[in-house]
Amino acid sequence: MIYEVTYYTAKCDHCKVEYAEDSPYSAWSDKDNMKDILRDCDWYVDNDDEPKHKDKTYCSDCWSYDDNDYLELYAERLNKHQED
Ligand SMILES: [Zn+2]
Repeated sequence: MIYEVTYYTAKCDHCKVEYAEDSPYSAWSDKDNMKDILRDCDWYVDNDDEPKHKDKTYCSDCWSYDDNDYLELYAERLNKHQED
């Protein structure tokens, strides 16, 4: 029997880089498992603490916490990896 399955992967909402570009794995069958792996790699994944960034995913190169512990995105990286 041949049937279709769904896999998940991630892309940075800021610079648009694909997670799989730097990883031996390109997709996961379990979304929560994927989020855990992204967090282990210092990706920022839909943190409910900051409504502005809810449901967003940012790669490890795009963000840091500022002096007040708020998420700060590096403006110069915006759409750096966007393909047109
Ligand atoms: Zn990024």
